[in-house]
Amino acid sequence: MRVERVGLYGATVALEIAGARIARIAPMPGPADWQALPLPVDPHLHLDKTFLWPRARPAAPGLFPAIEATLADRADWTPEDIRARAGRALAEAAGAGMGALRTHVDWVEPGVPLAWDVLGEMAADAPVTLQRAPLLPVDLLGDPDHGPPIAAHVAATGDGVLGAFLYRHAGYPELLARVFRLAADHGLRLDFHVDEGLEPEAQGLNEIIRLTARHGMEGRVLCGHACSLSVRPEAEVARVLDAMARAGVALCVLPATNLWLQDGAPGRTPRLRGLAPLHEARAAGVSVMLGADNVADPFYPFGSYDPLETLRLASTAAHLDPADWLDAITTAPARALGLPAPAIAPGAPADLLLVEGADWQDALRRAARRRIIRQGAETQAKESVPA
Ligand SMILES: [Zn+2]
Repeated sequence: MRVERVGLYGATVALEIAGARIARIAPMPGPADWQALPLPVDPHLHLDKTFLWPRARPAAPGLFPAIEATLADRADWTPEDIRARAGRALAEAAGAGMGALRTHVDWVEPGVPLAWDVLGEMAADAPVTLQRAPLLPVDLLGDPDHGPPIAAHVAATGDGVLGAFLYRHAGYPELLARVFRLAADHGLRLDFHVDEGLEPEAQGLNEIIRLTARHGMEGRVLCGHACSLSVRPEAEVARVLDAMARAGVALCVLPATNLWLQDGAPGRTPRLRGLAPLHEARAAGVSVMLGADNVADPFYPFGSYDPLETLRLASTAAHLDPADWLDAITTAPARALGLPAPAIAPGAPADLLLVEGADWQDALRRAARRRIIRQGAETQAKESVPA
């Protein structure tokens, strides 16, 4: 297969594909008709609660009413219900050209949640690589009695990652110390929902950075949200980001959910949008990536399993040039998930997403056609990017 007039990192090329690999990349004169990137990776989704909207609606704006609405709905979850909702999500992700994803799985009691097993079964024949990260309140995972058996179960049945929700919990340094010890003992990566709020004193991230350095877990710890960095003093944020880069803690920014949940009050326009300082983080040397987070659930009623839509929203919300941030939906999340870093290069797997457009602004602006190539074979793409 030969694809001509492809825009690749600003140049126009022809791609030659032989079997499941890229055989040759040749320069071509003239403008590009297609923009290319490796199949994108979403490092932060929630397939267990996706598509609960509209049956579960929060009673008020903000993070905690969304948590309450989800907890209330859990009583109705069955394997069939989870399979139907998560299956729809996987079909959307595959149709958008996603290559791999990490889904968090709510784990709110000591026992193994139903969705953990159901999503584990679905991973075997999922159309995209599916990795599960358990999402436990830090006081459950850090509990000296409950934490160890949960971590052992995750190590035995999971995908190499342990995860927790941390937000101004009393005594969190001690809880986190136990969580890190569990991860180190079992050789697990860590993935946190941390400081998802607008209080400058929400500083769980600082402790995560300290413990990552102490345990030598560089490149194995991912932090999602870190919204409080958007309101902490600038000099303090600069110190945190510098320490984060040195410790090798990665940052996942989740614009849709932050824009929807932060600074919410009925009848009032939000002033603070809760986005972690991603330009500053990347400039400091932190690995920065983007995720869709919640799709059609009590945390966010909109959203899609299309990483290009996530990139477009992030570009608007955080003033990104999308062409400079393609790594945030490809190589950076792949590394965070422990997957081989995807590349478009001779000899690399022919796993590509092609989007019609003269450049990335043009490609993301409109409902552009796309072509998905998996292992050298073209697969069915959905018609368009949602407008
Ligand atoms: Zn999340």
